[in-house]
Amino acid sequence: MKDIREELLRCARCGKCRSVCPTFLVTRDETKVARGRVTLLEAIVQGKAVPTRYAREILMSCYRCMRCVDACPSGVRMDRVIQHAREMIAKEMGINRLARFMFRRVLPRRRLYDRFVRAARLMQRVLPKSSSQPLRHLPLLYRGRRYVPRIARRSALQALPELLKGRGNEGRGNMKVSVFAGCLLNYVYPEIAASLMRVLQLHGVDIIFPKSQLCCGAPVLAYGDVEAARTIARRNVECLEADKVDAIVFGCASCSLTMKNDYPVLLPEAKVLAEKAYDISEFVDKFLGYSNLPLNQVVTYHDPCHLRWGQGVAEPPRKIARQSGRYIEMENAGACCGLGGSFSLTHYDVSCTLGEAKAEAIRATGAEVVATACPGCILQLQDQLARKGMSTRVMHVVQLYERSYLEGRVHPLPAESAAISEIAHVE
Ligand code: SF4
Ligand code: SF4
Repeated sequence: MKDIREELLRCARCGKCRSVCPTFLVTRDETKVARGRVTLLEAIVQGKAVPTRYAREILMSCYRCMRCVDACPSGVRMDRVIQHAREMIAKEMGINRLARFMFRRVLPRRRLYDRFVRAARLMQRVLPKSSSQPLRHLPLLYRGRRYVPRIARRSALQALPELLKGRGNEGRGNMKVSVFAGCLLNYVYPEIAASLMRVLQLHGVDIIFPKSQLCCGAPVLAYGDVEAARTIARRNVECLEADKVDAIVFGCASCSLTMKNDYPVLLPEAKVLAEKAYDISEFVDKFLGYSNLPLNQVVTYHDPCHLRWGQGVAEPPRKIARQSGRYIEMENAGACCGLGGSFSLTHYDVSCTLGEAKAEAIRATGAEVVATACPGCILQLQDQLARKGMSTRVMHVVQLYERSYLEGRVHPLPAESAAISEIAHVE
């Protein structure tokens, strides 16, 4: 509590966060900006206000995009302020039963979680398809507009090998890494996990893909269920064995941010893991180098908030995009795409206003491919492009890198790698 009071006191009420906060830029509501949220939480902490449903809505509506953290001249760590607020609200007002059940009973059990997702996949089959993107849309919820990607027939953890030897002779090689997938790469985009592993393998890196890894816990923390998040974090720390590998490599910006920022707060033993955590683009840039040739395609790049503002990683994924095609920087590439986790479901209109601006920025570049580094952003961009009838292809930077690496090069894939590539074509 003392720490959080100190954090709140840092705020000089200068209002600089108003120029960057996505929820404020759309709503123009002072309660929906860092300054307003700090003021509210300060009143609650001092006992001058009590947590109400309205207060909860204000504190839960923060995207945790960390743009204000980057912009704040007083160094207010809004991510910590919001995390504290959510834990306090969870304690005082409780967490809804379904969320609690998922966080405590389902997410920590890999097989049970798999069964839930399989059931969701079957239900998804009845949803209507989009004409411009490989998506289906939710006809009853979210006013019939939200497009969702298909859940894969086999998850990355089911389809990909647990151990993979590095084969290529490019880059430094002789490294051993653990790969962490996270829920979206595992269940929705296993082909991205496959590309990530293949890029590592082609650069001579030995890979462990622990089958008992769980969700990173970010949604659990977002609801303030700190005990459930700690249980999940402990299991991930154990299975990723940070002390036995050179690095933990991620393809999801939110998962890597959670492990770098939140795990050491939840568990002191997670410090080693946090120090060895790398986004795949950071890992390529720092340890492997670039061995690809540019494709004859116009490419642009969108910054995931959790990578650029949360981890300060802006240049490595751009380098991949620049090296992989005819690169054009879009206007305001660092602006939020509007996903913001479950906020985009409960506040789809705000999410769409941000998403539409992003789609127009992409359109203005004339790009055939928009690359990004987070599966959450991919999901949002696919939705927003489909709503506008745009057929711009959305890719993860590691897929783009892999394609440009392999195209035009006589480079027989090792047997295991060929097996991995099959999953890219599985529905
Ligand atoms: S920029 Fe920082 S100091 Fe200024 S109002 Fe926002 S949170 Fe407070
Ligand atoms: S983290 Fe993002 S959404 Fe939350 S207050 Fe800061 S800028 Fe606004």
